[in-house]
Amino acid sequence: MNNVYQEGRDFAMSYILPFTEITDKESKFPEESFKRLGEKGFLKLLIPVEYGGFGKGLEEHAQACLAFAESCSTTALCYMMHNVALMCVLTHGSEELKKKIFTDIVENGEFMALAYSEFGTGTNFYMPEMTAEVNRDNTTFNGIKSMVTSATFASYYLVLAPSVEEGKINNWVFPLETKGLTFELSKWHGLGMRGNSSCPMHMDNVTLDSFFRIGVEGSGEEQVFNVVAPFFVTGLGAVYSGTAMHMFEIASNHAVDRQYPDGRTLSNIETIQVHIGNIYKNAAAARALTLEAARAGANEEADALTKILAARIVASEAAIECGRLAMRVGGGKAYNKSLPTERLLRDAYAGQIMAPSADVLAIWLGKALTGQMIP
Ligand SMILES: Cc1cc2nc3c(=O)[nH]c(=O)nc-3n(C[C@H](O)[C@H](O)[C@H](O)COP(=O)(O)OP(=O)(O)OC[C@H]3O[C@@H](n4cnc5c(N)ncnc54)[C@H](O)[C@@H]3O)c2cc1C
Repeated sequence: MNNVYQEGRDFAMSYILPFTEITDKESKFPEESFKRLGEKGFLKLLIPVEYGGFGKGLEEHAQACLAFAESCSTTALCYMMHNVALMCVLTHGSEELKKKIFTDIVENGEFMALAYSEFGTGTNFYMPEMTAEVNRDNTTFNGIKSMVTSATFASYYLVLAPSVEEGKINNWVFPLETKGLTFELSKWHGLGMRGNSSCPMHMDNVTLDSFFRIGVEGSGEEQVFNVVAPFFVTGLGAVYSGTAMHMFEIASNHAVDRQYPDGRTLSNIETIQVHIGNIYKNAAAARALTLEAARAGANEEADALTKILAARIVASEAAIECGRLAMRVGGGKAYNKSLPTERLLRDAYAGQIMAPSADVLAIWLGKALTGQMIP
């Protein structure tokens, strides 16, 4: 894969866009798109070449998420979670664990999900309340993860759990078929991102041996802040920039196509021109900052962290603002849902509250810019 953004765009036109409407209308996980994501190699984008993948990194992760979100926010978000969980295994997993999971992704088109958030700790996902009791080489888990995107469709779940070492945490991989692991699909009623299947995951005496733990006991915090967070926060920036660009495309096409009886189009009206300009300006700024943040992150530049935090905040806010303006340009046609604008606006609303939320990130950004510890 040489130009991941362009290849992602082309892929999305054929294999994501056709399912976007039904994904939302029927709250249907985009299974057909994921099957094709496997066949065309996008699920193994980040897997090193020696394991049969493309060996790409943060920049290509952002490009793929952006390209997919320009067609379907739900598919892009589910794909983004897969890449994030995969990166944790890739950078810190044991050789045996990597082989098992990478083989399932490369050869069988399987994918991963992220099970971090809990009902109690909410946006502070890095402080899990679930329990983990160690008995020799086995650990038994109990508790509930609140919103697990791709639930029941993903084959492996990256779970953040407490360590036996006081105040420390671990990342584990839970295979879907593990005894004691159940999902409450009927509890997903998202305003947007409706195909996500982001439902609670119950862990009732789930018992795993240390094969499924990532890294040594108590090493989860470093994994969360050095790998999961940059891929997740940059990925969210890409998903919401793509959602904003999608809104621009819909609003501008509609403005050109919608014709009044006297032959004038919406796009001939100066106020509409200003709205279209503002939608583009917001979406393009979010996209540019996200791609720049990914580049800085990939090159481990000194200001990468602040760029990544800023990009995610800008993208979440841009998507909502673009949606608000696109609804205005779309008029009754947008309101009555003959344009997909309202769907995209509903999708966009997830951006500001997904952990770490835009409000929390704004605080982290201020801290990072003034040399203070985050979180
Ligand atoms: C579409 C979607 C998909 C998701 N997928 C996943 C997933 O795959 N895996 C996963 O683990 N989680 C997932 N989540 C969960 C998500 O990331 C959050 O953890 C969850 O939405 C937090 O919800 P809450 O109601 O408990 O928030 P609360 O913690 O109650 O927060 C409520 C509000 O208060 C604000 N707030 C709280 N604390 C502070 C603070 N200190 N400073 C400033 N503001 C604050 C928050 O920003 C938020 O706006 C998903 C969420 C959504 C919407």
